[in-house]
Amino acid sequence: MEAAITAVPLSLGMALDSAPDLGRADVIVVASSAGKDSQAMLDQVAELARAAGVLERVVVVHNDLGVTDRGHPVEWPGTTALARIQADHYGLPLEILHRDKGGLWQQARNERHAWPSAAARWCTADQKTGQAMKLVTRRVAAAGITGRPAEVIYCVGLRAQESPSRARKSVQVVDQGRSSSVRTITRWHPILDWPQERVWKRIHASGVPYHPAYDWGMRRLSCSLCVLASREDLVLAARLRPALAREYLELETQFRRQDDERLRKLWRFRSDLSMAQVIEAAETAGPLAFACPRRRCPAALIPPDDHDPFAAQRCPVHPSLHRDRLVECGGRVHGLAGPGAGHLRPVAGARPPQAPASCRTSLPDPAAGSRCGAGPAS
Ligand code: SF4
Repeated sequence: MEAAITAVPLSLGMALDSAPDLGRADVIVVASSAGKDSQAMLDQVAELARAAGVLERVVVVHNDLGVTDRGHPVEWPGTTALARIQADHYGLPLEILHRDKGGLWQQARNERHAWPSAAARWCTADQKTGQAMKLVTRRVAAAGITGRPAEVIYCVGLRAQESPSRARKSVQVVDQGRSSSVRTITRWHPILDWPQERVWKRIHASGVPYHPAYDWGMRRLSCSLCVLASREDLVLAARLRPALAREYLELETQFRRQDDERLRKLWRFRSDLSMAQVIEAAETAGPLAFACPRRRCPAALIPPDDHDPFAAQRCPVHPSLHRDRLVECGGRVHGLAGPGAGHLRPVAGARPPQAPASCRTSLPDPAAGSRCGAGPAS
């Protein structure tokens, strides 16, 4: 059963441990990485906004962090498509935001000449929050509020369970630094006190797909190779996305050789762990792919790397190549069975499969699969 929500007025200039009064909000922005916490938060915010009769004031924002020089997505492939699927489910508009001067990779290489870190988290500040605030400015202007500051609620899916610093946060706080005479921004953490089990329960109940990276064993989404991730997650990500990891290693090598001595000291991907060490551990463990045990077709292997599991217009016979098959498999449900449910079987040493020559996966016709020589899946 959901906890009771106590409505309190906005603009108090103080931290509060209860939800804001959505009925008073002019603009409600949901910042979504498309990860599990964002997804559960979106479900919660949509429900409360609908109950308050202000669903039309909600907009979902997703920051696309871009691609490397070789075109590998920095985030888990399919993340942007998934953000759209999730927003569409609630009938909400989605704004995909990009940093004009370049994505995370370009910012690291051309501007910062170093990786972000917990102490220098410009990746979040510049790539995400800064872009979302530009959208807030646009939305406030469009709302046309006069005679008082527009009330903006900015929703973020932080959870106290994630870290001691997050545990110290309040459910809502007025962002004094970003508020002005024309807007009051209240930062709201709708799922701050939710344990992980409640997050997954909510996602399963919603029926909305989540990213299969969780089934592959990852604990967080967003960047595949995150400077804040655990060693275990980084090694797993490098096994799943070896091409991306190799390009990160090239940049790490470039940082190590740069002229500026101060920056050269920061060459490691993480202060206690280099990308070279991550890759060494990943190569020792071997590549990894996943297969659905209910399928006979060898192309049922799910090859992570740059493969977008949510791309539409792919062969419906091969679940690894078609979004609908990812969420609908022989009575079981990919992407909804839940991490640890044992539905997807890891295949150590597997290489990304090649579709049979007879497969028309390259055709932009969703019906092409019916002509695929590989035959229907079981
Ligand atoms: S996922 Fe990690 S590296 Fe990527 S933007 Fe967030 S904190 Fe930075």
